[in-house]
Amino acid sequence: MNQVSRVVVVGAGIGGLCAALALAKQGVQVVMCEQATRLGEVGAGLQISPNAFKVLRALGLESALQPLAFVPQNAAIRDYKTGEYYLKAPLADQAEARYRAPYWHLHRADLHQVLVDACSAAGVDIWLGAALSHYNDDPLSGRICAVMEDGRECWAELLIGADGIRSSVREQMLGPEQPTFMGQVAWRGVIPVSDLSIHVQPDACVWAGPGRHLVSYYLRGGEYVNFVAVEERQDWRSESWREEGDVKELQRAFAGWHPEVSELLSAASSTFLWSLNGRDELPRWHQGRAVLLGDACHPMLPFMAQGAAMAIEDAYALAHYLTRFALPDALRQYEQLRKPRATKIQNMSKANAGLYHMHGGVLGKAKLRALKTVSRVFPQFIQSKLDAVYGYELPL
Ligand SMILES: Cc1cc2nc3c(=O)[nH]c(=O)nc-3n(C[C@H](O)[C@H](O)[C@H](O)COP(=O)(O)OP(=O)(O)OC[C@H]3O[C@@H](n4cnc5c(N)ncnc54)[C@H](O)[C@@H]3O)c2cc1C
Repeated sequence: MNQVSRVVVVGAGIGGLCAALALAKQGVQVVMCEQATRLGEVGAGLQISPNAFKVLRALGLESALQPLAFVPQNAAIRDYKTGEYYLKAPLADQAEARYRAPYWHLHRADLHQVLVDACSAAGVDIWLGAALSHYNDDPLSGRICAVMEDGRECWAELLIGADGIRSSVREQMLGPEQPTFMGQVAWRGVIPVSDLSIHVQPDACVWAGPGRHLVSYYLRGGEYVNFVAVEERQDWRSESWREEGDVKELQRAFAGWHPEVSELLSAASSTFLWSLNGRDELPRWHQGRAVLLGDACHPMLPFMAQGAAMAIEDAYALAHYLTRFALPDALRQYEQLRKPRATKIQNMSKANAGLYHMHGGVLGKAKLRALKTVSRVFPQFIQSKLDAVYGYELPL
């Protein structure tokens, strides 16, 4: 059989680094091209659910990440004003027992650094300041050439486009199409616990309110609290998809919310504002010797905290097939396995907007109350919903 022996990965985000590491650990020569001149991630948190954790464990990263993690007690949904719990599903020991893997919170920069170190140790050749301009897929030679904007070229047998929501690999493969603004913006920030005047519950907590919600959780063993505050908006006026946010505007948007939220935001000294964008399901994820993974092929609203988790699962599955099957078969099996799951999670994430933002006024609140009743009377029903996401095992 003719498996690939040299791969170029475009994009050193979490998905690209996981793919590079998984391939390099199985003896594939990997070159990674990253447009940034310095490696790093945004200063924000990431929820790593058991399904993603299992991949990080299989990549040998558990012990490096453990001292950097925070283990939340519960997944909670609470009322924005009264603090009433609509859902309180135990995580901590229960996640470990049920899924044989924990639910962790990590600082993005920590996970990114651990991945970069592991890639370097595994021999991945990382090119910085290497922005992909286009690729030339040459069926005659059986090779593909990644051409950088500065003229550098990198030949390989496969090109992996892990270049995020504005993927130029996707654009060349499927044509130009801007991502769609999803009518939501998100402020993100990280606050040292020493700056807080209140105790924040050690949960992965969604505070649900009309037209907006806020997610709070601890990072780095409890040293920081991360927040993601989402608000529905009609338009996004800026050219950029990320800009410095106005803390006062953020505090005004969540004024009158439960003291745990308002006190948390009053301690914020800076924030970034993101437009939340998406894409419809793509017709395909690969063509010739180019293939997509992560946000490049399935960007999603962060309302299930599964975007990076899906990129991590993609990366491991792709590396598995590439090192066991000839190229066309490997790519076909990869897409067949991953597309239905990623699309399902994309749709579930979108549906959560209605629930978290109490769409329908009184009806919206009634839905949350119904969730509360169901979670008390039929906890196994809620559990089965969580199992489908967190209990997933890649069938490899
Ligand atoms: C507010 C918010 C909260 C979130 N919270 C969570 C969470 O808790 N859990 C979770 O699982 N997910 C979460 N997500 C989703 C998650 O952040 C993304 O799904 C994930 O980071 C995607 O990873 P990626 O590697 O596919 O792409 P990216 O992280 O976008 O990486 C793409 C990389 O490609 C590089 N690149 C782009 N173009 C080029 C080019 N032409 N040449 C070379 N390099 C290029 C970029 O510089 C970047 O380094 C959240 C998202 C948001 C917005």
